[in-house]
Amino acid sequence: MTDNSPANQPVHSTRPGGPTQATLVQKARAKLAFKPAHTSPTYRQRKYSIRLWAVKHSRFFEWFYKKFANAFLVLHPFWNWVGYNRAEAPVTAVERCVKGLLFDCRMCGQCVLSSTGMSCPMNCPKQLRNGPCGGVRENGNCEVEPNMPCVWVQAWKGSRHMVGGDAILNVQKPVDQSLRETSSWLRVTAQSAVEREQKEAAQ
Ligand code: SF4
Repeated sequence: MTDNSPANQPVHSTRPGGPTQATLVQKARAKLAFKPAHTSPTYRQRKYSIRLWAVKHSRFFEWFYKKFANAFLVLHPFWNWVGYNRAEAPVTAVERCVKGLLFDCRMCGQCVLSSTGMSCPMNCPKQLRNGPCGGVRENGNCEVEPNMPCVWVQAWKGSRHMVGGDAILNVQKPVDQSLRETSSWLRVTAQSAVEREQKEAAQ
């Protein structure tokens, strides 16, 4: 008896003389490939280059961020005087511009750049915060966005330049969506100030 189920149909061609199945699949793949909205390929390519540059200089950014965080902490009395809530909007705007330019920051509000080799994990189309998926391409690019270097491959490379690079091995908590579009600079400062006060009180 002949089995005419779809699984047993020939896969090399759809009709005599027509395109092969492989050609059709290839065409469909090109059509279905993820294309980020509202941005031209040239713009994206430029952004990828800046991201790669930041990863390459991750050691410098690690050093700079420590100095910067300390400076913010020294300013704690000022933030207190202004009010952390009132400072939120202007500081968030500056943070968005600076980190958007350098790291393609998506303002998740809970920055992990210093644990991810200065490669922002929120640029992963699957938004993975703890390492790559199983689909990284042979050339180290993303499965979903073929022209984009996988953020986790870059994170590993960046972490190898950093003094505290082994922080990449720490398990990150899931993203708290309620913190989106808030300033992680201010949050870290406020938390450090509280920790410092608790330490002083305990002595
Ligand atoms: S981890 Fe979050 S805050 Fe840090 S750069 Fe990425 S989106 Fe921005």
